[in-house]
Amino acid sequence: FFGGIGGASRLGILVKGSNYLEALGSTETVVFDKTGTLTDGTFSVTELVCAPGVSKAELADIAAAAETFSTHPIAQSVRAYRGAAVAAERGRDVREVSGQGVEAVVDGREVLVGNGKLMAAHHIAFTAVEAPGTVLYVAADGTYLGAIAIADTVKPGAVRAIADLRAAGVKKTVMLTGDIRRVADHVAGELCVDEVHSELLPADKVAQVERLLSNADGKLAFVGDGINDAPVLSRADIGIAMGAMGSDAAIEAADVVLMDDDPLKISKAIRISRKCLRIVYENIVFALGIKGLCLVLGAMGIANMWAAIFADVGVMVIAVLNAIRALRVDNL
Ligand code: ADP
Ligand code: MG
Repeated sequence: FFGGIGGASRLGILVKGSNYLEALGSTETVVFDKTGTLTDGTFSVTELVCAPGVSKAELADIAAAAETFSTHPIAQSVRAYRGAAVAAERGRDVREVSGQGVEAVVDGREVLVGNGKLMAAHHIAFTAVEAPGTVLYVAADGTYLGAIAIADTVKPGAVRAIADLRAAGVKKTVMLTGDIRRVADHVAGELCVDEVHSELLPADKVAQVERLLSNADGKLAFVGDGINDAPVLSRADIGIAMGAMGSDAAIEAADVVLMDDDPLKISKAIRISRKCLRIVYENIVFALGIKGLCLVLGAMGIANMWAAIFADVGVMVIAVLNAIRALRVDNL
């Protein structure tokens, strides 16, 4: 197990204990979060739709100021769009509503930036925008200001990662997201996941994972970036977090951390686990077998001192040499 954990860490997979490495080998269900996990965290603003009398710069400025303190990938892309133009001190009293958006006071106005659920919760009349990616609605003091469309591109390795998981023996892949249905279905179609559930709040994600846990025979792994999904990470049999862009809470709550955010590493981790377990069983059978044989031969008066030394020290050395194979993970 030390060898397996060491080998995995060389590939940027941090496994927090041998029990998790063992559990990975019997993973049958893998559940993914969408934003930041399967899709790129660095998306870009594609379209600004303004309400009458609002300029694009004003819309983007207000949104960026409200998103100043958010670590959500969506917030980062809104800030990047305005570059250095926005003074951080404009946004005050920021409150993140997980799975919906942010509320903040910007220049003395009560600003909301988030999805349709957030607007509905504050009874704001908005015009739904049809764009291929995620859409954010912006409102100030109860008036709708406009919408910001953000391109949500699938990570380059994500399609292969899902296919590779199937090849590694995972029976079911599921995607959970707080995003709207249309976007979720589009991404799910592109990736060929078996099941997709959209418009979920963090608590709904836990409920979905609990339902899957009660139906599955093997182990269930959840992969997320920890933004709005840290509770699920700790609820799953194996919580896998994206380490590079994931939150500290995710890295803390997770059992396995992927340091480079590459979803392809999940199937690698499963293969490392299987190889490691195979070596463990080989060693157990080998050590007990030789010792048993030596015991029997000893009882019959055939085994001598040298056979006993081989059964003890020799077997140990061979088992250690065999275990060193677990460090070799490059060709998995
Ligand atoms: P996912 O489950 O796909 O990772 P989240 O649960 O993090 O998505 O977020 C769900 C939705 O909530 C987003 O699609 C977005 O519409 C909205 N949202 C969440 N956080 C923010 C934020 N900081 N700013 C604006 N919108 C947000
Ligand atoms: Mg997320």
